[in-house]
Amino acid sequence: MQFQHTETLNQPLRFGEGKQYWINTFGCQMNEHDSEVMAALIENLGYRPASGPEEADLLIINTCAVRKKPEDKVSSMLGKLTVLKEGKNDLIIAVGGCMTQQQDLARHIKNRFSEVDLIFGTHALPRLPELLERAHLEKETVVDIKEDYTGREGLPAARTSTFQAWLPIIYGCNNFCAYCVVPFVRGRERSRRFEAIISEAAALSDQNYREITLLGQNVNSYGHDLPGKPSFASLLDELDRIEGLSRIRFMTSHPKDLSPDLIKTVARGKKICEHFHLPAQSGSDRILKKMNRRYTREQYLALVREIKAAIPGVSITSDIIVGFPGETEEDFSAPLDLLKQVRFDSAFAFIYSPRQGTKAEKLTDNTTYREKEQRLQALNKIQQRISLEENERLVGNLLEVMVEGPSKNNPELQTGRTRTNKLVHFTGPASLTGTIIPICITEARTWNLFGEMEGEPR
Ligand code: SAH
Ligand code: SF4
Repeated sequence: MQFQHTETLNQPLRFGEGKQYWINTFGCQMNEHDSEVMAALIENLGYRPASGPEEADLLIINTCAVRKKPEDKVSSMLGKLTVLKEGKNDLIIAVGGCMTQQQDLARHIKNRFSEVDLIFGTHALPRLPELLERAHLEKETVVDIKEDYTGREGLPAARTSTFQAWLPIIYGCNNFCAYCVVPFVRGRERSRRFEAIISEAAALSDQNYREITLLGQNVNSYGHDLPGKPSFASLLDELDRIEGLSRIRFMTSHPKDLSPDLIKTVARGKKICEHFHLPAQSGSDRILKKMNRRYTREQYLALVREIKAAIPGVSITSDIIVGFPGETEEDFSAPLDLLKQVRFDSAFAFIYSPRQGTKAEKLTDNTTYREKEQRLQALNKIQQRISLEENERLVGNLLEVMVEGPSKNNPELQTGRTRTNKLVHFTGPASLTGTIIPICITEARTWNLFGEMEGEPR
C-alpha cells in the first residue's frame, strides 16, 4: 500500500487524511467509552467516520470477554470482515479490547485471522496512533498487549451523544470474583485524580452536556489508591455542585463497599439520580462465598432496606448469574426468593460462562446446560412479573424525562429516561432531544413506560 506521511518531531501523524474508519463495539459502557477515545485518536490522524464497514479504510473491533457469547460474535464478525480485504488490499483491520488483552486469545486471533493487522489490548489505548502507523508499515501483525497502564489520563474522546457523556472515574478491578475475567483484562484498580474528573465534568457542562454517567467496575472503591483517599461520596458531592449539569449517574456499585455516606449523598444530591445498579449475583450464601463476593444474603438485604428507607422512589437493578458450578436446585431457589424480597426494578440474568484463568473455571460443574437454561427462564419469568408490577405503580405519576430521541421501533414516538433510568415513550417532536420534560405516565409494560407530555421542556 502507499504510505503518504513524513513525520518530523513536531508534526503530528496524519496518515488517515482522506480515509474513513468504522468501529464496532461489543460489551459494556466502559468499552463504549473506550471506542469514543479510539475515535478521537483516529480522527486526530485525519480519518473521518465511515457510514458502514464496506466504506472503511480502517476497521476496529472493540471486543468483550466477559462471557463466551460476545467472544463468539467477535469471531463470526471477523470471519465476515476479513473477506472485505479481498477487494481492498490496503484495508487495515484492528482488534482491541478485553478479548485481546488475554495472551491466548490474542494468539488465537493472530493465527486464525491472518488478515488482522493490529491486535491491541485494553492498556494500549494511548499507544493506538503509533500502533496504527506500524500496522500501515509492517507486514507482520502488530501486537501490543503489555500491562503498561501509562498515558491514559487526558486522552480526547469523540462522544457519540451531544448531551449525555460517559465519564470513567476508576479503571480496573481488584475484587477477583471467582467467575470473572475483568481483573485479568482490565488490570488493577487505578482511580483518576479527583481534580481531573471535576474538570472534565465542568468542561462537559460548558459544552452543554446535561447528563454524565460515572463509570467504574466498582465505583464505590474510588479513591482508595489516591493521596488523602477521597471517597466516592465526596466526589459525587463535588460534581453535584457543577451548575450546568442536570443529571449524574454512576455504575457499578459493589454491595460490599457501598457506604452509608454514599446513600446520604445520593439522598441529598440535587442532580444525582436515584438509581443503584447493585449486582447481587446470587441469593445463596453458599454460592456467594464460592463466588468470592464478600457479603451475605442478609447483608445484601439490609443494604437494600437502608437504600429504600433513605431514598424514596429509588430504583435498584441487579445482575444474577445462574448455574454457577455446584449450584443445586436448593441454592437456586435462593435468588428467586431474593428477587421477591428485594423487588428489583429490573435484573439481568446470565448463564454462568467459564472464563479462562478464573478460579471458577477449575470447579466441577455437574449441572447440564439445559437445566441452567430452565433456571434462567424461571428466574426471568419471576423478574418480568415484578418489573411490570413495579412499573405499574408509576401510572398516573408525573416524572421528569430526559429525551434521547425518536424510538428505534416507532419513529413517531420519542424515547427518554426517568431519573430512575426507566425508558419512557411518548408522542412529541424530535426537536425535544436533549431536553428534560415532565411526562405523565399513562401505561406500564415490563421493559418500558408510556406517557404524555405535561409542561414545558427545559
Ligand atoms: N463490575 C461489575 C460488572 C462486571 S461484568 C460488577 O461487579 O457487577 C457484568 C456482569 O456480567 C456481572 O455483574 C455478572 O453478572 C456477569 N458476568 C461476569 N462474569 C460472568 C461469567 N463468567 N459468566 C456469566 N456472567 C458473568
Ligand atoms: Fe468482575 Fe467482581 Fe470485579 Fe465486577 S467486582 S468486575 S464482577 S471481579
